[in-house]
Amino acid sequence: MVATILDGKAIASQIREELAEEVAKWTAKRAITPCLAAVLVGDHPASEVYVRSKRRACEQAGLESQLHRLSGDCRESDLLELVDRMNRDPAVHGILVQLPLPAHIHESKILDAINPMKDVDAFHAENVGRICQGRPRYLPCTPHGIVQLLHRTGIKVSGKQAVVIGRSDIVGKPMAMMLMNRDSTLGPACANATVTVCHSRTAGLGDITRQADLLVAAIGRPRFVTADMVKPGAVVIDVGINRVDDQLVGDVDFEPVKQVAGHITPVPGGVGPLTVAMLLYNTLLAAKLQHTSA
Ligand code: NAD
Repeated sequence: MVATILDGKAIASQIREELAEEVAKWTAKRAITPCLAAVLVGDHPASEVYVRSKRRACEQAGLESQLHRLSGDCRESDLLELVDRMNRDPAVHGILVQLPLPAHIHESKILDAINPMKDVDAFHAENVGRICQGRPRYLPCTPHGIVQLLHRTGIKVSGKQAVVIGRSDIVGKPMAMMLMNRDSTLGPACANATVTVCHSRTAGLGDITRQADLLVAAIGRPRFVTADMVKPGAVVIDVGINRVDDQLVGDVDFEPVKQVAGHITPVPGGVGPLTVAMLLYNTLLAAKLQHTSA
């Protein structure tokens, strides 16, 4: 069997087109344009690239974007003051503080300071708690993008054995919660999985991953998931972005796993583009939630 490639890039552009239409309709009725404010602290080449692509995507969808830069040696209080200003600015609907932050700044302190109504990354404890309870306000962009991808390619999740490798707050944990919840933004077929979460201390990883109908790899180790770890016909979602010899590779050993899996996402062109698309979705949603009567 050779797996069907799940074209995240094509699905992301479909979502972005739909959002652009919705943004145009929404802004036409009001004198308000949804606005995403991004914060970049220090010089981090990868973060520069991510923020630039997010801003470009905003522009193309008809959203406004702001970029606030602070130097890498700024004080934590400088960043907190900036967050506070953006929290109070009615023209800003979504706030994104690009991670990672310099080591002297406490990430959780900054994320906690963002107004949960403007927390379009869905990293604030209130928003995480809401996802946990199955009543989300915002969903984190990468796992939400994966749910969109599964739905739009006709892959059902309900009743399946799902294995998530990785327990980060950004991908692994929220992905597991969303897959196990009773419902999703796209209905119950994209939720209700039986979920196992694996991590760096998991014993017998291969025995667990071989049970998976749906395998999500969010590890950050190039080509870590090998063909012998995959159940024939499984859906394999590769979240990893690793640079090897100037090439981007995923956490899945793509070519051999493609021979075993039923569906697989490529890197690049799989999950990455969906993450950006879902940030636009959250920014529009943020504007809607902040202007319910406008
Ligand atoms: P992270 O470093 O925070 O978490 C990695 C997880 O992998 C940890 O929970 C750890 O327990 C687990 N892990 C590490 N070694 C392991 C092992 N030997 N066996 C089993 N589990 C192991 O990373 P993250 O932020 O979740 O990101 C994961 C990957 O996804 C990275 O490559 C990152 O660049 C990428 N990423 C991509 C997108 C996207 O839009 N495509 C978004 C976020 C992250």
